[in-house]
Amino acid sequence: MKRAIVPGTFDPITCGHMDIIERAAAHSDEIIVGVAESPDKGEGPLFTTAERVALIEDAVEHLAHVTVKPFATLLVDFAEEEGATVIVKGLRAVTDFEREFQMAALNWRLDKTIETMFIMAIPEYMYLSSSAVKEIAAHDGSVKGLVPRGVEEALALKLGAP
Ligand code: ADP
Repeated sequence: MKRAIVPGTFDPITCGHMDIIERAAAHSDEIIVGVAESPDKGEGPLFTTAERVALIEDAVEHLAHVTVKPFATLLVDFAEEEGATVIVKGLRAVTDFEREFQMAALNWRLDKTIETMFIMAIPEYMYLSSSAVKEIAAHDGSVKGLVPRGVEEALALKLGAP
């Protein structure tokens, strides 16, 4: 792949997201992690856009050719602006499928020059989500191994964990 976008809310970034970014990076010349400013689900995000961008930048520091950018437009317009022709998404259990299938079909309808590609989550991260991580941290549980180190600290600060 040439230049690919890995989009998401990343509130916050988890090891599951990292796995998808790393695997996509292994098959692309360049990856842009697109951070959606306003999520289309649930309440507002726990972390601000700037915080989410900074946490991802810290986590992908070791990866060459990976940059992080926020976006507030349609995903296909963001991809077009960035000169990307591929959108890479992670797929967990069947539960992700319907939503992702709908988004990929709509994006295809909006712009046929941009292809959506999927990478299967590894079994270890199949059940890992940002909301689960926030839930665990909010109840003082350990999120070690589920999120990058910087995120562990940021969650503790944000949620006032001991
Ligand atoms: P979440 O669904 O956790 O709130 P996002 O909206 O930020 O996360 O998701 C961005 C992309 O990352 C989606 O394609 C989603 O399926 C994928 N993703 C999220 N968690 C994982 C995981 N544990 N393993 C693989 N892909 C994942």
